[in-house]
Amino acid sequence: MSLGIVNGTIVTAVDRYSADLRIEGGRIAAIGTGVAAGCDPVIDAKGLLIFPGGVDAHTHFSLPFGGTMSSDDFETGPRAAAFGGTTTCIDFAVQYKGQSLRQGLDAWFAKAEGKATGDYAFHLIVADVNEQSLADMKSIMEDGVTSFKLFMAYPGVFLSSDGEIFRALQRAGELGGLIQMHAENGSVIDVLVQQALAAGHTAPVYHALTRPSIAEGEATHRAIAMAEIAQAPIYIVHMTAAEAADAVAAARARGLAVYGETCPQYLFLSHENYLEPGFQGAKYVMSPPLRAREHGERLWRALQTDQLSVVATDHCPFCMKEQKELGKDNFAAIPNGAPGVENRMQLLYHGGVAEGRFDLHRFVQITATNPAKIFGLFPRKGTIAPGSDADLVLFDPAGTHTISARTHHMNVDYNPYEGRTVQGRIMKVVSRGELVVDGDRWLGRAGRGQFIRSAPFTRV
Ligand SMILES: [Zn+2]
Repeated sequence: MSLGIVNGTIVTAVDRYSADLRIEGGRIAAIGTGVAAGCDPVIDAKGLLIFPGGVDAHTHFSLPFGGTMSSDDFETGPRAAAFGGTTTCIDFAVQYKGQSLRQGLDAWFAKAEGKATGDYAFHLIVADVNEQSLADMKSIMEDGVTSFKLFMAYPGVFLSSDGEIFRALQRAGELGGLIQMHAENGSVIDVLVQQALAAGHTAPVYHALTRPSIAEGEATHRAIAMAEIAQAPIYIVHMTAAEAADAVAAARARGLAVYGETCPQYLFLSHENYLEPGFQGAKYVMSPPLRAREHGERLWRALQTDQLSVVATDHCPFCMKEQKELGKDNFAAIPNGAPGVENRMQLLYHGGVAEGRFDLHRFVQITATNPAKIFGLFPRKGTIAPGSDADLVLFDPAGTHTISARTHHMNVDYNPYEGRTVQGRIMKVVSRGELVVDGDRWLGRAGRGQFIRSAPFTRV
């Protein structure tokens, strides 16, 4: 059975043209005039743009955190992602202290297998940098996981020392892996948190006040310096701060293989959200925190000028009821994270394309093509081309969509963007040749998502 899509306008990171698509065996078989002849079924995409399915390079499905678990799993998470035009999620497997890398990765394969509603790849969080872990990075890479995340925050849980980080950078550089960094100075932050609690400050806003932007800028600069000494590439996750953007911009201007990621929450929300009445500020407790508006403006400029390369979500949802509430009397006990996997493409089209900050091609590049390239999934994912997976978003630029927890598909009881109306509407989503989203209808199923192997890093 082949699927045809006719009369649409195909948009990639570099091209824009009208053509028909013929899809066979989950892949794009042909693009051109009349190639859908004989296909069954045929979708008419008249008036619609066709984007490559989005690649969200930063999700946390079923992540244990602070005595609870992120509320989307591999069934609800990728399904919500698909409704928002994202057909591949790169989730973070976790090696905890005392475990081998293999144990950590296997635990995440078990969470996804038979359950995933969409395609997924993995990064691996390395909490225990030791001789064995460094040796094991090779076999993990042979199994299709080629990016490793380290932390400069969360002392005692995830934080690695500079020496450990440096050794991991050297090892990744030698193997063709890519180190991702959570860049915040966790030791300084821990002191500020203890001092705030000792002074009786318990409200959610203190989460932000104890994680200053300079702590992120300093760590970002330090991480890049260590990568330069190690002659290894580095990818900075969830950047929020002007200081951090400046550090990445300076490194890129010098020709270093340094990549920066930001997330919609840092572009569309701000520190003011922490001042919402009652305990509402807890909705936005995430690390790093939301910043003052001028930081958001700096991040938009960095996206316009290729100083930042990727917009991902750091999707890590916790319900207000019973989960965020764990920190009612202590901001440091609020589970860190927020939902977003469903809203990334909608928000970026609106704020980027509809509001005139960049064009359609840059939108595709930062939401699909760049993450697919940087994490070794391209050209299978991240573009529309013969031989690529048929992951497609049929998008009506004339439509609109209002974001709300009442209608979203994420398994969480609030939406940080509640009530916002965005320009453009996702009409249909195709994943490996299968129509999985048709308007409000879900046509996919649990277990249909596949693990996608990442190739070793090549310079993007
Ligand atoms: Zn994260």
